[in-house]
Amino acid sequence: MKTLQDLFEHEIKDLYSAEKQLVEALPNMVKAASDQKLQKAFSDHLEETKEQYNRIHDICEELDINPTSTKCKAMEGLIKECDGMVKEDADADVKDAGLIACAQRVEHYEISGYGTAVRFAKQLGHDSIAKKLQQTLDQEYKADQHMDDLAQGRLNKEAMA
Ligand code: FE
Ligand code: ZN
Ligand code: FE
Ligand code: FE
Repeated sequence: MKTLQDLFEHEIKDLYSAEKQLVEALPNMVKAASDQKLQKAFSDHLEETKEQYNRIHDICEELDINPTSTKCKAMEGLIKECDGMVKEDADADVKDAGLIACAQRVEHYEISGYGTAVRFAKQLGHDSIAKKLQQTLDQEYKADQHMDDLAQGRLNKEAMA
């Protein structure tokens, strides 16, 4: 790895792997959620994540890079924590609060990754790719904010009852 371009490609491969793993993992989160709004939030974000996977796939093609040799180990770990919560034998409201906590960790990791990737893309003059990455970044911010709203609304209150 010699140049910023090399580092950028490394980050893109990592994000590709992260989205790929999430497309497989999110259906379990949808099934595990009890609250209707939370279930919808997870399934809506699953659809967005499929879109994001296609978007990062297209970016890889545009850059002529093969992302399949890289695995994002951080996302692998975060998903393991999500799976742990999915399998947890807990009161429904408490479990929902736990699922939100896991999901927000995932979103924060993605926000960090895409934030860096957008910056590198701009620095390297990949303007159209920067715009595509920004689209995903905006969706991750919104998903995180939506989780926040759900957690601060009735879900945390119900978990205390
Ligand atoms: Fe994503
Ligand atoms: Zn990653
Ligand atoms: Fe990673
Ligand atoms: Fe996301």
